[in-house]
Amino acid sequence: MEMALAAAAAALPPSGVDEEEWAAVSQAFLEEALIETVSHEVGHTLGLRHNFKGSHAYDYASMHDVSVTATRGIGATVMDYHPINIPSNRSLQGQYYTTAVGAYDKWAIRYGYTPVPAEVDLEQHAELAAIAAEGAADPALQFASDEDTPRSDGVDPAASTWDLSSDPVGYYTDRLALAQNLLAEAANRTVRPGESWALQTSTARGFMRSAITAGSYVAKHIGGIIFSRGHRGDVGAAPPVVPVSGAEQARALRLVLQIISHDFWLPLASAVAHMPKHIGWGCDPPSPSTDEYCMGLGQPELLSSALEVRMLVLTALLQPQRRENLALQEWTEDATLSLSAASESPPPAPPPAPAPPDVAVWRQPPAELAADALAELTASPSVGALLRAVHAALALPTASGPLSVRLGSAAMVKQHFQVQRAWLSLLASFTASGLGEEAAVASALLASVVPTSAAVPSDWACPDAHETNVHIHAHCEAVLQLCNLWRQGIDLPPVS
Ligand SMILES: [Zn+2]
Repeated sequence: MEMALAAAAAALPPSGVDEEEWAAVSQAFLEEALIETVSHEVGHTLGLRHNFKGSHAYDYASMHDVSVTATRGIGATVMDYHPINIPSNRSLQGQYYTTAVGAYDKWAIRYGYTPVPAEVDLEQHAELAAIAAEGAADPALQFASDEDTPRSDGVDPAASTWDLSSDPVGYYTDRLALAQNLLAEAANRTVRPGESWALQTSTARGFMRSAITAGSYVAKHIGGIIFSRGHRGDVGAAPPVVPVSGAEQARALRLVLQIISHDFWLPLASAVAHMPKHIGWGCDPPSPSTDEYCMGLGQPELLSSALEVRMLVLTALLQPQRRENLALQEWTEDATLSLSAASESPPPAPPPAPAPPDVAVWRQPPAELAADALAELTASPSVGALLRAVHAALALPTASGPLSVRLGSAAMVKQHFQVQRAWLSLLASFTASGLGEEAAVASALLASVVPTSAAVPSDWACPDAHETNVHIHAHCEAVLQLCNLWRQGIDLPPVS
């Protein structure tokens, strides 16, 4: 909240918006933020707990329609943790925060405050049971609170803090498009004439925060489970445990693979060149006025931070609980198919994947990214398909293609190699301690990696400097040196 208010106060108008109009936007932003915060805290005072399924009640497009959200709310409750509601397409901007008490809130208060005659302690009165039963089949009345693991390490993608809509993958895709737009506009949106260029680095850090949040929360779909609190006999209630469909898992994995891919970070790499930072004492966060002990200039450590983000997302994707859930899903699917074959009834058709929202302006179509493995995951989610997808997306050196990553810069190539090496050591640990298929697939993938010494011809040479541009020559030399480093350092773990 504090950060959001500070951001609102510091942001400059987008191009084409005059100061007066921008002042009105800032005013609306602050008022809505205060209304949502006060409503949430009053909800606690009245006895309500957090409900992190509230934001999952409605579709993403409707969240930008003020004629709907003014009375219904952005989500079904003020007791969720909502991010600021900003689409990547500015012309769609609606409310920034929810300002209406939601359907869930009204229902929960009715349950808690309706006077009933002859109530007996510790027994649910029939009138209250009737109110509670209204929630079984209504998507706006679903509930998940703090002990349902609403953070990125949970398994239910419908029960998350800091997401919006019934389509979190679509929401996060759009959020990343917004982060890309802001990164491209960093100088114009954060630095007033007369201020330090160093103020832009906060936008670059925002880009990285968006990537880590999107990657780790979207990963909840892979091996994910939608839980329902319905009871036996509830009319219209969803089953208590519903695995996320293969199509939706593959859609989520495609977005996570983009974030750990090399290309995703190229816009940041190119932006870094124009972002100095102040160094000294008390320079963080950057301030428009330069403190007397904060006058040094340096480069922000954005490259190492980007590597850290990629590693964190890779680790979040492959956490033990997720791999266990995938193995369990495959196991139960096999059992369902076997049992239905025995009874000669066809297996239930998987639910269709929701159409992606049309608001996202994603600049990096990943059509070719791990297509075969994503199709495999769509047909039947499994740990093997997950490992094959990551392996394909990271473009490890094989006999058919030693360096298929785009060579954005020598430093980026080196970073990509570091991610690849981290992946190889994860594969080695799965080979040593994984369960069944996981160990077998990891072992096969390790065996398929060809050491770069074999994949890169040793007679590779850069064209002479006088035959080509000097910068291209230097770049080529740097890349060759990195290939040599990679060749010496790849130590393939032993395959047992
Ligand atoms: Zn709270």
